[in-house]
Amino acid sequence: MTARAVVIGAGLAGIAAAVRLRGAGWRVRVLEAGPRAGGVVGTERLGEWAFETGPNSFTSSARSLRGLAAALGLEEEIVASRPEARRRYVYRGARMHPLPSSPPGLLTSRLLTLGARIRVLAEPFRGDRPPGRPESLGAWIGRRFGDEVVERLLDPFVSGVYGGDVGRLGAADAFPALYAAAGEAGSVVRGAVRTMRQARREAPDAPRGGALWSLAGGLGTLPAAAEAAFGADLRTGAAARTLARDGSRFRVAWESPSGGDEEEAEAVVCAVPAVAAGPLLEGLLPGVSAALGEVESVPMRVLGLGFRRGDVTHPCDGFGALVPRSEGTRLLGVLWPSSVFPGRAPAGGVAMTVFVGGAHDRDVLERPLAEDRGRVLEELGAMLGVRGEPAVETAREWPRAVTQYVVGHRARMAAVASRAAEVPGLALAGNWLAGVSMEDTVASGEAAAGRVLATVGSAGAPSPA
Ligand SMILES: Cc1cc2nc3c(=O)[nH]c(=O)nc-3n(C[C@H](O)[C@H](O)[C@H](O)COP(=O)(O)OP(=O)(O)OC[C@H]3O[C@@H](n4cnc5c(N)ncnc54)[C@H](O)[C@@H]3O)c2cc1C
Repeated sequence: MTARAVVIGAGLAGIAAAVRLRGAGWRVRVLEAGPRAGGVVGTERLGEWAFETGPNSFTSSARSLRGLAAALGLEEEIVASRPEARRRYVYRGARMHPLPSSPPGLLTSRLLTLGARIRVLAEPFRGDRPPGRPESLGAWIGRRFGDEVVERLLDPFVSGVYGGDVGRLGAADAFPALYAAAGEAGSVVRGAVRTMRQARREAPDAPRGGALWSLAGGLGTLPAAAEAAFGADLRTGAAARTLARDGSRFRVAWESPSGGDEEEAEAVVCAVPAVAAGPLLEGLLPGVSAALGEVESVPMRVLGLGFRRGDVTHPCDGFGALVPRSEGTRLLGVLWPSSVFPGRAPAGGVAMTVFVGGAHDRDVLERPLAEDRGRVLEELGAMLGVRGEPAVETAREWPRAVTQYVVGHRARMAAVASRAAEVPGLALAGNWLAGVSMEDTVASGEAAAGRVLATVGSAGAPSPA
């Protein structure tokens, strides 16, 4: 049976594209190189404990992701974070500081010196003189709020989202909506208020106050549902090797440990990481592999650690804690999933997810796991009063965990996407095109499917049943 479309890669982007095309009545074949669908999204269960292999949550305004969950029959599985998850900490100077969430909270916070606090509160009233050329996130926030805010707030926040380097990420690349709104408003604070109001207008039914969502059984439920929905049409262990055009049809050759084969289709969605997309696309779009090969990503090690409540002094009463690089810890941050969502730990257990690696620790995966584990346990001891060994543990390694939206990244990717748009029936998707969040990634997959439907649409031959 011939598919009308082949989707290469079954991460969130590929799954979203495949579901949208199937929803339009297309026969879709999905090729996934790994042993399971989901890419970095997955949930590892150890008895009553559940640890996410990659992302832990998504914002409650994530409409595309919610739609994808619904299309896979998972709407009832969506769970909201507990109210206390709004509390976040920054570990600095051997102390856990609650992250201020309001102007009065900022005034009394010890995270910043008094001078820096006053500068933050005065920011909306200070004139803005943008440099007139693309600037890094660090340069932008530094000129508006000063170096202390960059070091103590921006750096840990950016570690949490990108595992990135504030001096290399582009302000307009990493946070485009906020940067644009701040430019219009002449102030980051006023721009942030505008983007929040805009998000509320766009998702009026989303819970207020930064609520997060996940799925009751963990985020891995979503790719598992996609595998079940597509059955034999989603082939795992099948790595696409070449992509060619033959008249109006595409040919995708793939390999698996037990051999290989070729798929023919009217349309292809290429939803693999940028570095993998380069060689696949080079035949159709000569020259793009150089641009795609330069897309940066950072490695990360994710440790899932389950402790007995009595072995942890800190209440872990929030989402988790981030650490500025200046503190010199090995860990970038620690999340407390058992305080955020139900079903992540047995009664009397504290589940923690620890991230190590990122832009300032690119050799992370060359070190033995045992070395990081020992160092992380020591650091958790100092930060949270964790004693003894974890009751359960797991570890996951991602050589290319998060795409880095360095200065100029979006413009370079827009050029690649417009080259792809010259080939009818070809579309690109993934977290390197329009944002790294799960929501942005799902939206990119849906947009790719939309482009395929618009360019090939019903003009192609009907799918043989
Ligand atoms: C540790 C970590 C924590 C994160 N936390 C959050 C979070 O809390 N919230 C949030 O919103 N986002 C988070 N993210 C970001 C988000 O999860 C990712 O950006 C998104 O899931 C990436 O999806 P993707 O489909 O673009 O790529 P991937 O997940 O990388 O999927 C690409 C797929 O393509 C396959 N592939 C590669 N080459 C081939 C080939 N030749 N043939 C066939 N298949 C191929 C791969 O095996 C993979 O399955 C996190 C990411 C990481 C790594």
